[in-house]
Amino acid sequence: MKPQLILLGAPGSGKGTQAARLVAELHYNHISTGDLLRKEIKSESELGKKVQGIMNSGKLVDDNTVLELLNANCDLSQNAYIFDGFPRNHDQAKALDEVVLKKSKSRAVYFNIDLEKLAARLTNRRTCSGCGEIFNLLSKAPAKEGVCDLCGKSLTQRKDDNEETVKTRLQVFKETIDPVLAHYEESGRLARIDASQNPDDVFAALKGLTEE
Ligand code: AMP
Repeated sequence: MKPQLILLGAPGSGKGTQAARLVAELHYNHISTGDLLRKEIKSESELGKKVQGIMNSGKLVDDNTVLELLNANCDLSQNAYIFDGFPRNHDQAKALDEVVLKKSKSRAVYFNIDLEKLAARLTNRRTCSGCGEIFNLLSKAPAKEGVCDLCGKSLTQRKDDNEETVKTRLQVFKETIDPVLAHYEESGRLARIDASQNPDDVFAALKGLTEE
């Protein structure tokens, strides 16, 4: 069985883009706590209403809420997962091991990139409302403005990809990442990849890690 993969990295470091390729080529299941939370907001559930303001501010939703949502949406007895956006702090890293992963083999990968470059990447990010393909107006612009090259549906901008919220999200990341990296380093599960390379090279590095 392939190892469960935990993708760690700042917002905009390329985790979502790479996760989509891992799903397509290596048949992983992708679980993104950000996507799960956004789904709750879209469906106007009680949970969605509770987390909306926090997400729009760029701060973190409380650990228990996110852990419950994560646990309810994955079944490790049958599947290999890519965890994207979880864990965000040391308590979540511990909970992921104890409550979700238990004895499953896992590897964590840190997407190493200069954080200064990320604000522009995030504010220029656009996502297809149909197939979820991720574009960037700076580095991967769609052929026709506002339209997905793959499925023709409209492109949308995430509500938290505005300048002010991005600033908070990057600050929160800086304040919380070190103990998370230490957690995986101490248990010998951490690999670091250079996420500033082109996406094909990042993917090759990731693929190699699943084969070790
Ligand atoms: P993301 O899509 O991973 O960039 O997450 C978007 C937002 O969802 C974050 O800024 C947080 O408000 C919330 N969020 C996603 N994952 C978590 C998590 N593991 N813990 C707490 N909040 C989270």
